[in-house]
Amino acid sequence: MLLFKANHNNTVSKYKRILLKLSGEALAQGNNTIDPGTLSQVVTIIKSALKQKVEVGIVVGGGNIFRGAALAEAGMNRVTGDHMGMLATVINALAIGDACRRAGIDAQVMSGFPIGGGVCDPVDHNKAKQALSEGKVVIFSAGTGSPCFTTDTGAVLRGIEIEADVIFKATKVDGVYTADPVKDPSATRYESLSFDEAIEKNLQIMDTAAFALCREHSLDICVFSMLGNTNTLSDILNGKPAGTIIGN
Ligand code: UDP
Repeated sequence: MLLFKANHNNTVSKYKRILLKLSGEALAQGNNTIDPGTLSQVVTIIKSALKQKVEVGIVVGGGNIFRGAALAEAGMNRVTGDHMGMLATVINALAIGDACRRAGIDAQVMSGFPIGGGVCDPVDHNKAKQALSEGKVVIFSAGTGSPCFTTDTGAVLRGIEIEADVIFKATKVDGVYTADPVKDPSATRYESLSFDEAIEKNLQIMDTAAFALCREHSLDICVFSMLGNTNTLSDILNGKPAGTIIGN
């Protein structure tokens, strides 16, 4: 008897719960700040993970709209700029939540600071875990809820709170390389790295605070690319050696 429909590779993931970190820029395309086609691709990726019986939490950035550092460079107060950046992440999270629901996926958006008016719920790790265990996708916004942090640190924080097995960090490159593969064709991809190596090499994949938090809580990070292939996450969940794992 078929108990549940497996994905295209017919296997079940070793991960039960993941935290997927998407940058705001991953949603942008051409002149669109939030591109409908890109949103659908994100939904396809989420759907394939859910089909593999993997619970999916998401943290989305806001770099496609505002970044506090860039606003401060233009003369704005840094804290106000960071507040605007965090609000930008809420806009992106609402868009992903809406796209999920339109595709028949139950989704709940939570914010790191309280927002009234029925816009979204405040972050509550118990409610988030309950929703995830019921098969809902939980989209966390507003990063850590405080200025002077990044959504990468927010992703690690939420990953720890929901007891995720791994953080999947989507980037434009399919892993961590010995050098920039665009500039140096001889660069090779690391299959794995330790947190100490990642911090020592000053990898620009995540900030040091995020790496340090992961190291302390033994939460692995898988760096992978979503560009042009909606199957990559599903393949990695199936055990295909792609991307780079950063762990203890
Ligand atoms: N931000 C913040 N605190 C946080 C997370 C984010 O103040 O905990 C602000 C910060 O200004 C940041 C912006 O929100 O530049 C958008 O987040 P981020 O740059 O991490 O987005 P991404 O690069 O992932 O799109």
